[in-house]
Amino acid sequence: MKESHREVITLIGKPASGKGTQAEPLAKSLNIPFVSMGKMLRDEIKNKTAMGRKFASYLAAGQLVPYKLSLVLIKRRLAKPDAQKGIVLDGFPRDVDQARAFETIGHITHAIVISVTEKEVMERITGRRCCPVCNRNFHIKINPPKKPGICDACGSHLVHRSDDTAAVVKERLKSYRDDTIPVLHFYRRLRALRRIDGVGTIEEVHQRILDAIYNSDKGINRHAQRNG
Ligand code: AMP
Repeated sequence: MKESHREVITLIGKPASGKGTQAEPLAKSLNIPFVSMGKMLRDEIKNKTAMGRKFASYLAAGQLVPYKLSLVLIKRRLAKPDAQKGIVLDGFPRDVDQARAFETIGHITHAIVISVTEKEVMERITGRRCCPVCNRNFHIKINPPKKPGICDACGSHLVHRSDDTAAVVKERLKSYRDDTIPVLHFYRRLRALRRIDGVGTIEEVHQRILDAIYNSDKGINRHAQRNG
């Protein structure tokens, strides 16, 4: 399939803006796979691969891993058969180097910014619990699992991510301001940027993202509507 036919939707936002929560239901609605850069990096670390050993210290410090390494992972994922029609990306690109590099191997058709304030981020992050196996996110108050500490979807034990502490989140917010805000300008120039309000129920935010895609002048609105 020619690259021009692949729909690549990226969700951009501060830590805990809801990217990880929204990516999977969005991908389901659009009938394409979702790809989380953070999860791919954590899997490399968990599996103790040579690349994983290089990533570990960056994640522990809340810093971005070098873009050439992250691009290797994305390229590998894009080559899989299920990604030929399109993918939903969570956590990539996070800086302009990554955005530019991605345009050499693919094309972002929709960059959706999920807007939340830094105050909201701090409140969300302390209660966030994550499934290390299927990557689902929960919140002990806003979105609790049915059984405390257990993932609704796969039954694994939920964890409080080691980078979800106030100190590391401050660093991740700084990285968002310094590295990711310029990415928004990059996609605005390419006319691919859409901004939606990230405060609301999971379903409300999901619907806002779909509306932003349907109302876009890019190709996915046609097959997205067919897939409900
Ligand atoms: P996330 O799961 O998206 O919150 O990402 C967790 C951490 O993984 C970040 O704080 C970074 O250290 C790293 N990371 C995630 N996405 C990227 C990326 N696109 N480029 C470089 N590092 C990343």
